[in-house]
Amino acid sequence: MTYFTADVIYSPEGPLQDHYISVDNGVIQQVAPLNTLEPRAFRDMIAFEDALIVPGFVNTHNHSFQSLLKGIADDAAFFDWRDRALYRYGAKLTRDEIYWGALFAFSEMLKNGITTVCDFFYLNDQANENARAVIQAAKDLGIRLTLARTFYDWDGAPKRFQENVDQAVNNTEMLMREFEADQLISVFPAPHSLHGASLAMIQAGKELADSWNAPYHMHIAEGRYEREMIIEKTGLSPIQYLHQQGLLAANLVGIHCVWLDDRDIELMAGSGMGVCYNPSSNMFLGDGVTRISDLIKAGVSISLGTDGGCSNNRASIVEEMRMTSLLQKVTHCDATVISAEDVFKMGTVTGGSHLGRPIGAIAKGYAADLTVIDLDDLSMQPRAFFQKNMVYAMQPSAVQAVIVNGSKVFERGELLGAITEGHIVEKIQTITGNWEAVPSKVALK
Ligand SMILES: [Zn+2]
Repeated sequence: MTYFTADVIYSPEGPLQDHYISVDNGVIQQVAPLNTLEPRAFRDMIAFEDALIVPGFVNTHNHSFQSLLKGIADDAAFFDWRDRALYRYGAKLTRDEIYWGALFAFSEMLKNGITTVCDFFYLNDQANENARAVIQAAKDLGIRLTLARTFYDWDGAPKRFQENVDQAVNNTEMLMREFEADQLISVFPAPHSLHGASLAMIQAGKELADSWNAPYHMHIAEGRYEREMIIEKTGLSPIQYLHQQGLLAANLVGIHCVWLDDRDIELMAGSGMGVCYNPSSNMFLGDGVTRISDLIKAGVSISLGTDGGCSNNRASIVEEMRMTSLLQKVTHCDATVISAEDVFKMGTVTGGSHLGRPIGAIAKGYAADLTVIDLDDLSMQPRAFFQKNMVYAMQPSAVQAVIVNGSKVFERGELLGAITEGHIVEKIQTITGNWEAVPSKVALK
């Protein structure tokens, strides 16, 4: 048994003082007052001074390899960005580069207090070796990873994204089985989107998720073009079309869901599906503002994602909490429409439920994933109002330590896993050294 304590522990019941967290086998056993603990247990106590322990932040949407593409097509129109950065470089990355790209993304996340990331992975090459390279990167750093293995069969994208239905189902199930007993890794199916996956592909993804009692994630209604394209093709909005096909369900998490009408929101609430919201990415690509407060009012659960490194370009869930709140306030011209406490839940416990795991809360039975915040950091002053300050004011300098599955993986600026930050920086510079930015005026291929 290991014990953790700090000045404040942020539990679902609120802030607790003079309490400890006991952890065994990576799972929180108890959160209780220090004066109830037997004296010899203090030998196994890890105490953080002038610190606040919060649940580790949960990033429910990312494409890790995209961190390598930061800066390449920034400020470009969506299709320029997609074709000249994402497809061009995504098509040629080697497995080793995919591995280092994942290390780059995940290490930035750890430094920002993220303990779990969902990597929506589609550079599959009709097999699982590339996905295993991403999993290896997570293991080398000690971050918890959910690999959303993509189902993709649109032939307009690079060949390596594409599989047929049987390949997608068999490869994904093989990977799910391989990591079924792994405490830190889980895998579930992720039909890419209505434009990236055929109806048969999406149905197969849902069936596989259902048979494993797992979630499935899918990009939905991200850009205005997507909504218009689906309406033109089917006469229905993306959400209404998915509903008509029986594909809205409680284990579905829709990524983005920017372009929604009232009927869509009603159907989403009725189905029990969740939304993974990526406000920085939606702003970066000029997509729009998801109707978060309307979704919340209707009863739809919201988690937060950073999305890929070349459409954000920061890897921080605190940043996404802040953006979520500010965007709703300015859209509604009403500062009371959403609170720091609301968005904090999105970035922690709701994230866990969208990944189908007991993570994101400091409570018995939850994974021992903890982020330790330095209450003496300048950005956390005045100290008494930490619940607001950790969402609106906190800088990464305040992240003092990160614990995943009961083990410290980051402390005082240092990654404690198998790979150092210096090594990652050196490799990224080698890999991207002769890459060129997208010229701003080049015809599409
Ligand atoms: Zn995405």
